[in-house]
Amino acid sequence: MMKVDPKIIREVDNLLAQVYGHKRWRKHAEPIDELIVTVLSQHTNDVNRDKAFRQLKRRFPNWEQVLRAPVRSIASAIKPAGLSNQKAPRIKAMLQKIAETNDGKLSLDFLKDMPVSEAVNWLKKLPGVGPKTAACVLLFSFGKPVFPVDTHIYRISKRLGWLDEKVSEAKANELLDKVVPDEIKYQLHLNMIAHGRSICKPQNPRCQECVLKHLCRYMSQRQK
Ligand code: SF4
Repeated sequence: MMKVDPKIIREVDNLLAQVYGHKRWRKHAEPIDELIVTVLSQHTNDVNRDKAFRQLKRRFPNWEQVLRAPVRSIASAIKPAGLSNQKAPRIKAMLQKIAETNDGKLSLDFLKDMPVSEAVNWLKKLPGVGPKTAACVLLFSFGKPVFPVDTHIYRISKRLGWLDEKVSEAKANELLDKVVPDEIKYQLHLNMIAHGRSICKPQNPRCQECVLKHLCRYMSQRQK
């Protein structure tokens, strides 16, 4: 259940923007690139994810080549990202599905003109694509108003008291997407991640230095 007023969310967005900067949308990557990067990023860090992606692109300069490649060659190219035996068949199956439903073309450009909820549902039908991956592709490649909830946003939202402790990450995506105002989704997403990396860390959050401490349930409980 959601426990937060959009006014508070706007206040958090303003406070974080003063610390981490105002963000204007820019295209991060082509949609299929973004999709594959998100698959590679599962259970690894950004450095290994980027290394795996670079290696994959060096070995197979276009997605048609990945589609035709044996799974074991894809797995070997993406090894730095870990779990390559799970990620490689998933990447291949995704590309197959995109080609099948798009007259053999490896492109997601048709999502541009689709209503957001339809585009989310289309992406979620791809093998291994959950709400966060779908939201990342739509936000970063198309600038659509969706709010992906990654591990930092999930943790901070619970600490602030916006979400129940027991809510799943998938449900958190759905709930926060409804309540975060569209025009701040991109900036708030990036700045909450920055905050989770530097201040509201998984272990030992630096609450005394936090600009959100007067709005935080975790902080108020610690003071009792
Ligand atoms: S006060 Fe502490 S727990 Fe709350 S958001 Fe800030 S760092 Fe996180």
